[in-house]
Amino acid sequence: MSSFPAAARRVRDSSADPVARFWALRECSLHFPLYGFRATWHHLTVRAGVPAELSEDPESLTRAIDELEEARRHWLLLRTTYARRRRIEKADGQRQPARTDQWLSATSLAYCPDPQRHPDERLVTVLHRLVDANMNNLQPQPLCAVCGTARPVDMLCTACGVDPRGPTAKLSGDLQKQATANWHEVWNRTAQKPRRSAVN
Ligand SMILES: [Zn+2]
Repeated sequence: MSSFPAAARRVRDSSADPVARFWALRECSLHFPLYGFRATWHHLTVRAGVPAELSEDPESLTRAIDELEEARRHWLLLRTTYARRRRIEKADGQRQPARTDQWLSATSLAYCPDPQRHPDERLVTVLHRLVDANMNNLQPQPLCAVCGTARPVDMLCTACGVDPRGPTAKLSGDLQKQATANWHEVWNRTAQKPRRSAVN
């Protein structure tokens, strides 16, 4: 797999085959899966309007990478700031990072187990809210860090689809079946808007 910047350049290459650009976008989504790869993929392709027939609108792929890269740029800035702060903390003798910093190490920052149920705002907006919630230390309270809905901290948020337990969380059999079926629909690019209702 190539680096994010290299794959992003291939996505934007309007002289390239749209199918090759499509696969490069997939690579970028694997590099920065804010909601987990599947839900991130659904979010990007729906918001950018990537058609089932790519040749109908190949520039939709550029719109998708623009949104993903905007969020990733902000994330890199956060990571750089964090690394700088950690160097100072270590110099002051604090060897372990604070518990409130642990979310910074997650791969999927706002993991959504069902690929069709995730926040539908721009990724960078959701990332900003995650940062605010974590900096204000909302996590130990029974509130969803992404949408602010009151709910147990160790459960899927039924309002926005984010599961704070991350990719290791086990869904019930029916939910898992639904999530898998939804993914097949997403990958075939027939899925439309995110679903916000009734998966409990
Ligand atoms: Zn939520």
